[in-house]
Amino acid sequence: MGDPVRALPGAASGGADPASLIDLDGAHGECGGQWLRSALTLSMCTGRPFRMRHIRAGRERPGLLRGHVASISAAQAVCGAQVQGAELDGASVAFTPGEVRAGDYTFGVGGAGSCMLVLQTVWPALMGLAEPSRITLRGGTHTPKAPPFQFIQRAYAPLMDRLGAVSELRLRRHGFHPMGGGGVDVNITPAEAGRLQPFDLTERGPLRAAYAECLVVAVPRHVANRELDTLANSLGWAPHQLHVPAVRQNEGPGNALMATLEHEFATELFTAVGEKGVSAETVARAVSREVREFQVSRAAIGPYLADQWVLPLALAVWRSGTAARFTCSALTDRALAHIALIRRFLPCHITTEPFDGGWTVVVSP
Ligand code: ATP
Repeated sequence: MGDPVRALPGAASGGADPASLIDLDGAHGECGGQWLRSALTLSMCTGRPFRMRHIRAGRERPGLLRGHVASISAAQAVCGAQVQGAELDGASVAFTPGEVRAGDYTFGVGGAGSCMLVLQTVWPALMGLAEPSRITLRGGTHTPKAPPFQFIQRAYAPLMDRLGAVSELRLRRHGFHPMGGGGVDVNITPAEAGRLQPFDLTERGPLRAAYAECLVVAVPRHVANRELDTLANSLGWAPHQLHVPAVRQNEGPGNALMATLEHEFATELFTAVGEKGVSAETVARAVSREVREFQVSRAAIGPYLADQWVLPLALAVWRSGTAARFTCSALTDRALAHIALIRRFLPCHITTEPFDGGWTVVVSP
């Protein structure tokens, strides 16, 4: 089987001139909000300006949503960028980065916009600096189609830490869909001498722990019981693996079901956020399906972590000149579009090859 990334539009390697404007067209279905956020990150890290047109053109509500505008503002604050077009519903943005500065930052997203996605926009830029940064986030922490706080803390942050820039995360307040209003504190300590060390992640290693947590606030307790029972029946998990963590009543209403698999070399976390009109059983089945799909493969990480990990890894490979690889249980169309985007900014090679029902992604300078 060939490399699927090569077939994508814009999949050529990044050009040689660091000052040249990168022209991006978001009109393809798979080019969503992550394309924009990652373009911001890559632009900050490489100093290369970009313009993006037809932002999220394939979505039901195209253009910039609140969370996307918040990510642009965060990137602008971190590097003093010149920005044009960062308006709600806007279809194009021009971003000319300045110098990335460490510091104390506060970023907020209104409504159910995910503040975890705002964090992921600026984190790779801040981890390569000589000084530490402190970030205060406000917004959604457990929202649909975004990594929940625990995913970032248990799955994403440990990989970032292994690159050399250690982080500390604290959830001050949950922010559930649709109200948001959560709070997260993040400290990022720079890598020694600003040196990032890419590493191979090809095996997940033996399972150390598997457990499910059901967050319920101002939602009847039987919802949590039904979600956990359905998940446990489907995965064959025992009662000691099922938890209902305490959440302050004024942090809701909200519901999220999370299943965590702690392996020796990587932790994965699968989530479904409860929504009005969606049964507890449907929420639980969505999580158990994702867990099972991951478990049938031998890959180190799952599809969401794969599409998030490839960007910081590529930055570390580019800076260090050392190649690295990882295996993942699936590569979504979004991940492939994301890889094509990285190739537009960074002069590194990213190839994919089939691996035991999943994929190996190789990033070389
Ligand atoms: P759009 O509405 O255009 O899709 P978006 O801002 O929601 O825009 P996406 O392009 O869908 O952005 O990207 C969402 C990001 O959230 C991706 O990085 C994806 O890996 C991550 N993500 C989505 N769901 C989960 C989940 N359940 N667990 C962990 N990460 C998730």
